[in-house]
Amino acid sequence: MNEEIQQVLKQRFGFSSFKKGQEETITKILTRNNVLSILPTGTGKSLCYQLPSYLLSGVTIVVSPLLSLIEDQVRQLQRTGEKQAVAFGSQLTYQEKQWVLAHIAAYKFIFITPESLFQEEILQRIRQLDVGLFVVDEAHCVSTWGIDFRPDYERLASIIQHLGVKKVLALTATATEVVKEDIRQKLFLGQEIDLVQKTVNRVNIFYHVEKLSTVEEKLSWLQSFCSKYSGPGLIYCNTRRDTEEVSLYLSGNTTLKTAYYHGGLTSMERSAIQQQFLADELDVLIATSAFGMGIDKPNIRYVIHYQLPDSLEAFIQESGRGGRDGLQTLSVVLYMAQDQKVHQYFQKELLKEINDFTHLVPLTQNNDSIVLDHFSELQKKWYDFSKSENHSIENLQEKIKKRVEEKAEKLARMEDYLDTDGCR
Ligand code: ADP
Ligand code: MG
Repeated sequence: MNEEIQQVLKQRFGFSSFKKGQEETITKILTRNNVLSILPTGTGKSLCYQLPSYLLSGVTIVVSPLLSLIEDQVRQLQRTGEKQAVAFGSQLTYQEKQWVLAHIAAYKFIFITPESLFQEEILQRIRQLDVGLFVVDEAHCVSTWGIDFRPDYERLASIIQHLGVKKVLALTATATEVVKEDIRQKLFLGQEIDLVQKTVNRVNIFYHVEKLSTVEEKLSWLQSFCSKYSGPGLIYCNTRRDTEEVSLYLSGNTTLKTAYYHGGLTSMERSAIQQQFLADELDVLIATSAFGMGIDKPNIRYVIHYQLPDSLEAFIQESGRGGRDGLQTLSVVLYMAQDQKVHQYFQKELLKEINDFTHLVPLTQNNDSIVLDHFSELQKKWYDFSKSENHSIENLQEKIKKRVEEKAEKLARMEDYLDTDGCR
């Protein structure tokens, strides 16, 4: 089977090797029935369901929370030459829907949001199909503790039972214990599952905290940073108004092309901005957390948090959108003491660190959460960066260069470093 997998990887996807966790997930789903795979953003979770689909009979149903994600994935499959992939949802006209329903048996991949899946017309047709694999992408949406909770995800288990599907693959980058347990309970109804989980540490992301005392300082820091540091870049703000203000400020005070993105825009506006950003037509996108889940833009060179993010998880997800191509990327948090909208945990653990650079907060040894591992890793990096006095942008670039060199040396020294570190 191994050889077969390798062959499909080369011939269909044109890749010569797997990224961390992919092969394990693929082997597991081919040999077992219930698999939860937790892999960092950008590891290539899509391949984990796409590849085995070609080695299984029947159709693959992929449930995904957003139409924009679905469209990206269909396009991605089409690039590999797959013609039998369809997105079924509200974007289709009545006639298009009827056409898809009439030809449903011809598809190898059906992508759908949970809301659309619950419609009787499509359920009834899917029931007649041989579903070889049922994929729940962004599976953390099932958890009320997750950052992207979607009530309709809670109903997926009953659909899976109803359809009598044997193989279920849940994919996510969110690894906290509560979310994991929620997925196990709500999606797999407490059944035995096979877990694949890899560290969320991303070796090519360099973390930095900039302590500033006023909004004006933040804006002028951004102006100077974004003018000098080449993008594309992403700036996260906690409020819609901030995204608009920052965007306006940057486009007014620099030559950069910027846009803002938040849930208050129409879906057409959002989709147009997303396309522009994906096509490198924007230098900087300023967004609320509404932007980004599952976005596959490889070359984001920096992610800046204009305020402290709401939670550690949100921070890891959002900063993790940078550097998916494996090249060096910067994550900067603009910290201002007055920014109060902060998750308690984050506040307690992280702010202690930011305010007092002279010590590291010890994390309990017996806590097995990968997020915490990652967190302590972040703290070390932050600590290293922040304890030196000079934080100018030129300096930052110098430092990054140095860190990259150090890392390369380290890599050369420890051959198994790659295995213990994130996605490279
Ligand atoms: P995730 O869902 O884990 O965030 P995606 O499935 O969107 O990641 O994939 C991220 C990128 O990685 C895509 O551009 C994809 O083509 C690429 N990719 C996936 N698998 C491999 C591989 N084995 N080798 C090289 N690139 C890969
Ligand atoms: Mg994905």
